[in-house]
Amino acid sequence: MWKGIIEEYRKFLPVTDKTPVVSLCEGNTPLICAQTLSKLVSDEVYPHTKKSSVGVYLKYEGLNPTASFKDRGMTVAISKAVEEGRKAVMCASTGNTSASAAAYAARAGIKCVVLIPEGAITLGKLSQALIHGAKVIAIKGNFDDALRIVREICEKHPITLVNSINPYRIEGQKTGSFEICDSLGDAPDFHAIPVGNAGNITAYWKGYKEYKAANISKRLPKMLGFQAEGAAPIVLGHPVKEPRTIATAIKIGNPASWKQAEAARDESGGLIDMVSDDEILAAYKLLASMDGIFVEPASAASVAGILKLAKKGFFNVRRQKPDEQRMRIVCVLTGHGLKDPDRAIASVDKPKVLEPNVDLVLKEMGL
Ligand SMILES: *Cc1c(COP(=O)(O)O)cnc(C)c1O
Repeated sequence: MWKGIIEEYRKFLPVTDKTPVVSLCEGNTPLICAQTLSKLVSDEVYPHTKKSSVGVYLKYEGLNPTASFKDRGMTVAISKAVEEGRKAVMCASTGNTSASAAAYAARAGIKCVVLIPEGAITLGKLSQALIHGAKVIAIKGNFDDALRIVREICEKHPITLVNSINPYRIEGQKTGSFEICDSLGDAPDFHAIPVGNAGNITAYWKGYKEYKAANISKRLPKMLGFQAEGAAPIVLGHPVKEPRTIATAIKIGNPASWKQAEAARDESGGLIDMVSDDEILAAYKLLASMDGIFVEPASAASVAGILKLAKKGFFNVRRQKPDEQRMRIVCVLTGHGLKDPDRAIASVDKPKVLEPNVDLVLKEMGL
């Protein structure tokens, strides 16, 4: 039975026999081969063959206990906070960090305080933080303002900060790359990931390097990070004062792990690019309608990103000879679509309401 990422990858994590493990059996998420996407990217790379020359794999992190990848980091951060005798944790959040912190704090029996930007957090995420019993405080400001306040409070009080600047979060999140290597037998050629506060790209790169150093994997992927156009400080090279995007989980103007994200990009020979909200929404709908996978908009940024790159011919330079193993691209799908039901409803036609009559229903069905 899967015991959660701390037990499964214990020797790679900063825990001892004395660490009280606070877990909800996170991790072990499926790596799904996406047929439609593989075909779409293959057609750009290798237009004259029927066989898919590219395999696109989706790491569906929305299937973690609180429905985002944040649980991987939170199990370690909360376990260490309890080990250190802390009675309270605090975070700033665009939503998923607070949902995860609230759940793991509840499990540990400690307090959780979350600071959110007013009106900028989705219904699913807010309901999670509240039902798990966190103290939720909204501020008239954005995520960056909230994080600044949380940092100041946690410096002066015995409260553990559980945003991704907490190094234990990164340690836990790096297990995502272990699972990908375990599933594929090695690291992929490319690893595509949305970038908000930039903790996760940092974590995945760290994980890939550690698995290679331990001789479990033989190679390293090129890291492809994607920000939203209206919140793309790393791409632009300067902080964005008023970040704007429908992808609320990556609506961040001044990422805490900015330097580490650049290091992941440069050491791996990858890139950090941006995608528009329209491209994000198109990828969001494509994933749901063609590959059967429902994610929140921010998660679709990784897919929008590889589609954008494929169209520009980015993957063609790596076109393989026929006998070579097919190119593998992993996209991390960071959070579940049910986190943001309003966006789904707003993206499609509303269902028609009819009188309860067979003929009317048949007519609506086009029969
Ligand atoms: C937190 C989050 C991100 C961004 O991850 P960072 O580590 O902040 O770059 C992307 N998507 C979802 C769904 C998230 O919850």
